[in-house]
Amino acid sequence: MNTANKMSVKDIDVAGKKVLVRCDFNVPLKEGVITNDKRIVAALPTIKYLKENGAKVILCSHLGRPKGEWLPEFSLAPVAKRLSELLECEVRMSKDVIGEDAKDISATIKEGEVALLENVRYYKEETKNVPEFAKELASLAEIFVNDAFGTAHRAHASTTGVADYIPAVCGFLIQKEIDVMGKALDNPVRPFVAVLGGAKVSDKIGVITNLLEKVDTLIVGGAMAYTFLKAEGHNVGISLCEEDKLELACELLAKAKEKGVSLLLPVDHIAADKFDENAEPVAVEGKDIPDGLMGMDIGPKSVELFKEAVKNAKTVIWNGPMGVFEFKNFAGGTFAVAEAIAETDCISIIGGGDSVAAVTKLGFADKMTHISTGGGASLEFLEGLELPGIAALNEK
Ligand code: ADP
Ligand code: MG
Repeated sequence: MNTANKMSVKDIDVAGKKVLVRCDFNVPLKEGVITNDKRIVAALPTIKYLKENGAKVILCSHLGRPKGEWLPEFSLAPVAKRLSELLECEVRMSKDVIGEDAKDISATIKEGEVALLENVRYYKEETKNVPEFAKELASLAEIFVNDAFGTAHRAHASTTGVADYIPAVCGFLIQKEIDVMGKALDNPVRPFVAVLGGAKVSDKIGVITNLLEKVDTLIVGGAMAYTFLKAEGHNVGISLCEEDKLELACELLAKAKEKGVSLLLPVDHIAADKFDENAEPVAVEGKDIPDGLMGMDIGPKSVELFKEAVKNAKTVIWNGPMGVFEFKNFAGGTFAVAEAIAETDCISIIGGGDSVAAVTKLGFADKMTHISTGGGASLEFLEGLELPGIAALNEK
């Protein structure tokens, strides 16, 4: 996907214009209270820029999955309240998205003011990307700004549909995703190392296949590694292993060889006799895992091997934990690799929901160049797929 020429808010004149901004305000709520406002805070640079440059800012977002029903627990009202605290100004909340209230806001909003429409998923037309709905939504504004990377892989009315009717550009969040991840994939500073892990090979086939074309070294850890080890003829005990993906694993190993990509697999393991938080960790030397044991994390020799490969990198993309990092006894490998990436002077990119959670939980988030704000979207980006929400943006 070519993303280098996409227009951003900086490339257009927004003064006096009504600007519809698609944000990702899908925040966690507990009994109507926002438990983490990270996504709201992340949206502030774009909103402030528009406000300071005299735009009339009309925000929209989804929240949860109300599936076309007007369920009050999915209202964006708590987000409007939090936004007004953070922006230190009033944020007018619309009762609807394309109804009377939204139209009234569009007609009366002044330069520098900020308003928020209700949950776009209160309308089933949103996820179905119904043109009439997208047209109504677009009619509220003169410019569309997409700043919701987390939904950029979905062709919905508020992510792509509106772009058929008004000029579309990206906000600063999407801009950074495109700049950092796009550059790493299209024109990486080398050596380029990918660290892949997580639960299943089947979830990551696209990512592995695409990255094999681009990287110098591919490190595979996590449960995914056992399918590769078994494909190489090793014993994996009762580890997670996808029997139906053994042939594919063989093909990928062969492809790595053909491309001259150094593909590193664990050379030892931390295992357990059951998948349990309190299971006793058993050190397993060598690549083979004895019968009755399952690999839960990479072992110390693997940590050294992977760290050595990361140390020389100039670009690192990481997706998928090295082990069951949610269990204290099996988080060591993920921690060590996160630390190695954090300490290396390189462009470091973390994508994937659990990987981002792991890096954040282990305290390395601030040391990475880029933490992708979209789980599914970042995986599709790494797969080299075209994201509809980005494809719909105007070119320079
Ligand atoms: P991401 O969300 O970053 O793309 P995945 O969803 O693919 O990552 O994988 C994350 C999950 O993989 C975590 O819940 C982790 O516990 C699990 N996992 C990693 N290694 C193992 C293992 N050896 N056995 C079982 N599960 C594992
Ligand atoms: Mg996941």
